[in-house]
Amino acid sequence: MQPLYTTILQIINSYLIVDLVNLNKIIIDITSQTAVIGTGNVIDKFYYEVNQLEFAFPAGTCPYVGVGGLIMGGGLGNLNRKFGLSSDNILDAQIVLVVYNVKNYPELLWAI
Ligand SMILES: Cc1cc2nc3c(=O)[nH]c(=O)nc-3n(C[C@H](O)[C@H](O)[C@H](O)COP(=O)(O)OP(=O)(O)OC[C@H]3O[C@@H](n4cnc5c(N)ncnc54)[C@H](O)[C@@H]3O)c2cc1C
Repeated sequence: MQPLYTTILQIINSYLIVDLVNLNKIIIDITSQTAVIGTGNVIDKFYYEVNQLEFAFPAGTCPYVGVGGLIMGGGLGNLNRKFGLSSDNILDAQIVLVVYNVKNYPELLWAI
C-alpha cells in the first residue's frame, strides 16, 4: 500500500528528527461516523473539523498536543467517562516499528 503522506527526515548531530507537519490530512466520513487523521495534526485542528460537522471525539484538554503521542498514551480528556479514551476509539492505525538495533536505542518504541 502506498503511504498517504510524505514526511521530512533530517539528521542533526546523530539525532534523527522526523518532522510530522505534512502528515496533516483529516478525512471525515459522516455516514460511517469515522475519520482518517494524519498523526501530524494537533487535536485542536481535529476538534475544529469534527465540530464543524457537529461531531465530537474524546481526546485531551490541551489543544496543541499531537494526535500520535496522545493516542500512544491513551488520550485522557473530558469525554472519557462517557466514550472512553482516545485509544478506545481507534479502529485502525499505521504502526511504525523499530527495526534497528533495539539494544542500542532502548528508548525507541513503536509509533503511530
Ligand atoms: C500542555 C500539555 C497538556 C497535555 N494534556 C493532555 C491531556 O489532556 N490528555 C492526555 O491524554 N495527554 C495530555 N498531555 C500529554 C500528551 O498527550 C503527551 O505529551 C503526548 O506524548 C504528546 O504527543 P505528541 O504527538 O505531541 O508528541 P510526541 O509524544 O513527541 O509524539 C510525536 C510522534 O513521535 C512518536 N513517538 C513518541 N515517542 C516515541 C518513542 N519513544 N519511540 C518512537 N516513536 C515515538 C509518536 O507516536 C508521534 O507520532 C499533555 C501534554 C502537554 C505538554
